[in-house]
Amino acid sequence: MSRIGFIGLGNMGGPMAANLLKAGHEVAVFDLNKDVLRKFEELGAKVCGTAAETALKADFVVSMLPSSPHVEALYLGSDALLNKIDSRTLIIDCSTIAPQSARKVAAEASQKGITMIDAPVSGGTAGATQGTLTFIVGGPKDALEKAQPILSQMGKNIFHAGASGAGQVAKICNNMLLAIHMAGTAEAINLGVENGLDPKTLSDIMSKSSGRNWSLEVYNPWPQVMENVPSSRNYEGGFGSKLMLKDLGLAQEASAASRAPTPMGDCARELYSKHCEGPFASKDFSSIVEVLKKN
Ligand code: NAD
Repeated sequence: MSRIGFIGLGNMGGPMAANLLKAGHEVAVFDLNKDVLRKFEELGAKVCGTAAETALKADFVVSMLPSSPHVEALYLGSDALLNKIDSRTLIIDCSTIAPQSARKVAAEASQKGITMIDAPVSGGTAGATQGTLTFIVGGPKDALEKAQPILSQMGKNIFHAGASGAGQVAKICNNMLLAIHMAGTAEAINLGVENGLDPKTLSDIMSKSSGRNWSLEVYNPWPQVMENVPSSRNYEGGFGSKLMLKDLGLAQEASAASRAPTPMGDCARELYSKHCEGPFASKDFSSIVEVLKKN
């Protein structure tokens, strides 16, 4: 059993922390949202009043926050967590953030004798709940080996992408591709519906044809084609459109910095940017289908 500090109990962090509790670890939690803290108190977690309190005597600190500014503010900001963490504590940041932010925090940590790995995840809220996430890790291999028993209680597949920041690079590539196939899937189903097809019949056909992909088969964007996905519950929960727009921005930054052309990624970013101007910014990213529908 380990002592784990967990910071950020949102759509992803909530079920991940719950799985660590279920596995018998001593979990100390913190989130800005008081409602979610109350729920964790009932689950048996130690609820803390500050992020620093979660790190007291912790073997691991896990953070699952929205974006780079949140992570930098937590570890490096005015009340820097890095000044309060013991050097024996391993930091596992699971947020999706800019690779350069991950490297910056890891380098500052290293100067204080603390190790931090970037371990962004794939698999969505269902994967977080079922403990089947994919972890994509950047940082020293021996630190990944130390984290492995904890990660394997939240996920099924654990990859070492390379040095610090490499986990974030791989995650950004994956999410750019995800946005592209989600937008393409939404476009294809909408085209079929506008031409008289039933969305479920069309989805079944494409799922057994060369257009098959994860968005179509596991996370269908058209309402009521599939049960237990955000599109069938008014796009509640899941992966927010705003968070997808953030990831597409990170992909474009990486593309510009490395001069690797990503025209499809740019197109997806423009689509999501337009989408986030409307009422769907906080809804699941599969709601992109709604920008295509006729009013
Ligand atoms: P979310 O918005 O549901 O949760 C974020 C949580 O962080 C919230 O509960 C918020 O109150 C808390 N928070 C923010 N600032 C804080 C601070 N300073 N201290 C403590 N708590 C703070 O987001 P999410 O969907 O859980 O996503 C988290 C990260 O995981 C993001 O980087 C996202 O890109 C990534 N991600 C999400 C999914 C998904 O399907 N939702 C999948 C893979 C990766």
